[in-house]
Amino acid sequence: MAEAASRDVPESKATLIKRIDLRLFSYPMTGVGPGGIDMPGATGSRARIAVRIETVDGAVGAYVGGQANSLAQAATCAKAVLGTDCFAREKAYENIRRQLRKEDRMGAGVIDCALWDLAGQRLGASVAQLLGGSKRSVKAYASTWFGGDGGGLATPEAYADFAEECYAMGYRAFKMHGWSDGGIDKDIGAVLELGKRVGGRMALMHDSACSFTTFADALAVGRACDEAGFFWYEDPYSDGGLSAHGHRRLRELIKTPILLGEHVRGLESMATLTLADGTDFVRADPDFDMGITGTMKIAHFAEALGLDVELHAPGPAHRHCMAAIRNTNFYELSMVGPSRGNFNAPVYTCSYSDALDDVSPDGTFPVPEGPGLGVSYDWDAIAEMTTQHVTIQ
Ligand SMILES: [Mg+2]
Repeated sequence: MAEAASRDVPESKATLIKRIDLRLFSYPMTGVGPGGIDMPGATGSRARIAVRIETVDGAVGAYVGGQANSLAQAATCAKAVLGTDCFAREKAYENIRRQLRKEDRMGAGVIDCALWDLAGQRLGASVAQLLGGSKRSVKAYASTWFGGDGGGLATPEAYADFAEECYAMGYRAFKMHGWSDGGIDKDIGAVLELGKRVGGRMALMHDSACSFTTFADALAVGRACDEAGFFWYEDPYSDGGLSAHGHRRLRELIKTPILLGEHVRGLESMATLTLADGTDFVRADPDFDMGITGTMKIAHFAEALGLDVELHAPGPAHRHCMAAIRNTNFYELSMVGPSRGNFNAPVYTCSYSDALDDVSPDGTFPVPEGPGLGVSYDWDAIAEMTTQHVTIQ
């Protein structure tokens, strides 16, 4: 009797990955000053990675996302999947997890997201459909730039004014990133002012992005969040958003739910933090947590515990994941402010947008339809903005 063929090898070579193109590119962000402060007339810049994966039979999957520092890791991940079956995403996840075991695996997400796009392109189904999702839109929160002198968010009143503006556009949730100068007085002022002006009409969140210096300061702002009825309190102080013990103590002392995990990478670490009672809401990001594959594993872990998972940052992959996650609340429309700084890369040739003003009147953004991630890219524009180009073949 003939020996059974290995189940890891596809019957045809058509679906094997033959080439992966990685481009690091940079684009200007107008209306944003140093430190991510909302600042009319200022110009900053941001880098992202564009990935294009091609199989032997010429099918293509693509994704734009990730972080500038992750290009070398993304190239390592590309080498790990070259020559493998494009549908074998779990095997790719396993290989990459081992290969990058000494690192944070931040380069894995862009490769996995492009593989999901490729699968959807080949099968004529959207990623949301492949995941079993049925939501056609996701409820968004306006997530602000940081506060600072001379900017559009210079005072507690400016935050509340901007929240009112967002409410009028349709948003029913609002997150403030505060001053990030280590002080807490203006943050407390803004928390209380937001509670007074839009509390009860909008779900409110605070994210200091780990800027408060001490546990005592984190506690003081947390108590203001309690007073103002905040929906969550995120990464408050300079433990890096990592200390399960510190946040368990904080959770014992305040009523507002804590959201931690933006700086905790991947399924096992997020599970460890959550089971140590370090957070109320679970965090995941397809760019940071090994892609759509990793994000859905974290979402299902949270589901098993009866908790909600909140995805960090906006993007097509995030919307498709949310379409298939029951236990989630809001889509993060970051970073936004009165000066209309453009956080998101200008790379789409379709109607896809994560701009503040493109919210639907009901406060939602659509889950893209069409095969894969349901978006198309301007590769000429990406080529013009490219600062580093790596091809693995
Ligand atoms: Mg955050």
